[in-house]
Amino acid sequence: MINVTGLSKRYGTNLAVKDVNFNIEKGEIIGFLGPNGAGKSTIMNILTGYLSMTQGQVLIDGYDITEYPEEAKKRIGYLPEIPPLYTDMKVREFINFIYDLKKVKFPKKAHVDEVLKLVKIDNVQNRLIKNLSKGYRQRVGFASALVGNPDVLILDEPTVGLDPKQIIEIRNLISKLGKNHTIILSSHILSEIQAVCQRVIIINRGKIIADDTAKNLSAKLSSERSIVARIMCDESTMLETLKTINGVKSVTSLGSMEKGSFDFLIEPDDDADIRADVFDRVVSMGKKMLSFKDNTMSLEQVFLRLTEADDDELERLLGTTADKETKSEGDEE
Ligand code: ADP
Ligand code: MG
Repeated sequence: MINVTGLSKRYGTNLAVKDVNFNIEKGEIIGFLGPNGAGKSTIMNILTGYLSMTQGQVLIDGYDITEYPEEAKKRIGYLPEIPPLYTDMKVREFINFIYDLKKVKFPKKAHVDEVLKLVKIDNVQNRLIKNLSKGYRQRVGFASALVGNPDVLILDEPTVGLDPKQIIEIRNLISKLGKNHTIILSSHILSEIQAVCQRVIIINRGKIIADDTAKNLSAKLSSERSIVARIMCDESTMLETLKTINGVKSVTSLGSMEKGSFDFLIEPDDDADIRADVFDRVVSMGKKMLSFKDNTMSLEQVFLRLTEADDDELERLLGTTADKETKSEGDEE
């Protein structure tokens, strides 16, 4: 449904998007995750035809956004980070206006009714936009994106600035729309992406550094399956003993988090499952294990680790050829 190849965008001397490639199938819900300034909005603005690219190709349902902008744009509903709303208009009046602007062919009244109902703003259709709460305004933005029934929805940080109740409502709306739309959603907040997306594209400094399911990403990065054990013991004796267990690569004391005990981070050799042996050894020493948990990373930890890693570390972590920074063109600040 969306094919992006070799996409780059330069603002003056700042190469904000660097040779980005990805494909999105019809019906997928994809999360663009990245810190502020990563390039998420820039990529979205290019996909929607609002911003020109410096290099590359974007196909929307097979239509090149540069060569056939009308055909491509018809298939996209865009909710920018700050939706442009005419706040002196009433809700219905504004949606009617968007309908005309998009030159939609469906019967007008029925279509506008349908859209207002879908995002649950039919009850405020005769109110001025400027008098609405932020949550309702965001729904008006959604409604305008949905006018014309586009297959693809591109939502740029759709819950920013909303309160927790509004966030849940918008999330539910996105999940509902995901049943019959292809959706790209951006966020710098993980829980946001985790809540609704099947696949995560992590963007950092203009480059894609990971593109996978949340589950696979966590698994890839925590393949060492380290363990954190809290044991009532003498720190140095336990440290030395744990190191002698077969399959244990390293043991680090994390200090005392609870009176009379110490936490140990135990990393196994590749593929070794050391859980049973560690447990048995502690028990055979007559020591008490207070807790024992595998240290599988949360998506949050994955995200931080990836966005903080340099290129060499990325390559090691992901085992991919995260393309090296090309300083030769002199594109960096
Ligand atoms: P994100 O949406 O991930 O926060 P952006 O796409 O907004 O990131 O920004 C990516 C980079 O491009 C940033 O370094 C930002 O300063 C720069 N940038 C964004 N828009 C412009 C613009 N209109 N002119 C110049 N630089 C810009
Ligand atoms: Mg942005």
